[in-house]
Amino acid sequence: MEYKRKNVWLNIDQGKIDELESLSTDYMDFMNKSKTERLAVKEIVRRAEEAGFRNIDEVIAEGKLEAGDKVYAINRQKAVALFVIGSEDFEAGMSIVGSHLDSPRLDLKTVPLYESKDIAYLKTHYYGGIKKYHWINIPLALHGVIYNKGGEKIEVSIGEEADEPVFFISELLVHLSKDLNQKKAAEVIEGEQLNIMVGSIPLEDEKDNPVKKNILNILKEKYNIEEEDFLTAEFEVVPADKARLVGLDSSMIMAYGHDDKVCAYTSLRAILESENPKKTLVGLFVDKEEIGSVGATGMSSQFFENTVIELMNLRGGVDLVSFKRAMKNSKVLSADVTLAEDPNFLEATEENNTAKLGHGVCLTKYTGSRGKGGSNDADAEFLQEVRLAFDKGEAIWQTGELGKIDQGGGGTIAYILAEYGMQVVDCGTPVISMHAPLELVSKADVYETYRAYKSFYENI
Ligand code: MN
Ligand code: MN
Repeated sequence: MEYKRKNVWLNIDQGKIDELESLSTDYMDFMNKSKTERLAVKEIVRRAEEAGFRNIDEVIAEGKLEAGDKVYAINRQKAVALFVIGSEDFEAGMSIVGSHLDSPRLDLKTVPLYESKDIAYLKTHYYGGIKKYHWINIPLALHGVIYNKGGEKIEVSIGEEADEPVFFISELLVHLSKDLNQKKAAEVIEGEQLNIMVGSIPLEDEKDNPVKKNILNILKEKYNIEEEDFLTAEFEVVPADKARLVGLDSSMIMAYGHDDKVCAYTSLRAILESENPKKTLVGLFVDKEEIGSVGATGMSSQFFENTVIELMNLRGGVDLVSFKRAMKNSKVLSADVTLAEDPNFLEATEENNTAKLGHGVCLTKYTGSRGKGGSNDADAEFLQEVRLAFDKGEAIWQTGELGKIDQGGGGTIAYILAEYGMQVVDCGTPVISMHAPLELVSKADVYETYRAYKSFYENI
């Protein structure tokens, strides 16, 4: 009669443990290849093509779309949608699992390179919700796309391989921190101090900015780029660390960007394994969630609608009524991480209503802050449907909300899809140290997230 969360480790048999281990290993490989949204899109498309998915442009050129067909559409290299076409009409609604590929990080400013006291730096502007002091004294990698004047596109990745240099942001030594130690944590390092060190060798016989000029020479030699090319470039600075197992029992995984690539990966696995569904299945992987889902590649853009309209057009025609019905009848798991209870910081959470590490995927009825503000509040009817789907697929799940009332809060892409009249609920993996450069998840929860998304695709 009494409800108790289930510990995944005590509730799965040996056969599933093997599956859990191989999924974890593959997840870590995915994470190491997907540090930025552009890299994640490449890896998702590579895996999708391997599983028989075809580019929507090809399918449009052919002019036909049939039940069972697998299609992907890319939005400006930073977001992607996967579709497995169902035997039922689009009007019956789609089963959608939507995650995001962007994670908090440091972006380069447009005029980033400067020299101070014989050291060269790149200036950054942080992206998403970070604690700035997290980003000092750790190895950083640089990823980006830059065009030179000749129009050549150069893709840069420095710091991921063991034989490559990394980058560094400094902090004041403890011996001289008497004044600094009095500051609030949020002020210890300011945004304008998040400058990454890139060099210290001066160019010989050069009076002005000799170190900067030496760096410019290296950039010209190695990448055929000049300082002005940075004005139109896009560079992201991320932790250089690889995903690692954590603990004597190796039960956890530490990595950069679990939020939200853990949900992206698990939903990707689930849709890649889906064949001949009744309803059309959608795996949606969007950008810009961390800064409000805005812009051409965020969930608020019309990319998803445009793609659905193209596909409906190929599948027998589309008009306003059929499109609106297809959207309204769709059901969505807004696949985003939630917090896992941290025994070191119990003061921020309420124990009955916080997801626990290792106790399965978390269903979050509502998010928001100050009285559920900004939340999509899923209804009991849909929650019951999702519950039955998960139970049928034997996924281990729990519920949770984002911390104690009035301690803060957060949002996801749920409310944006809900605006079409879709039924939406948040559902994702519990994370410890969310938004830190390295975040922590339980292997058991990664596995159960995958099983939950698979159950949703199979049973909704
Ligand atoms: Mn997220
Ligand atoms: Mn986030």
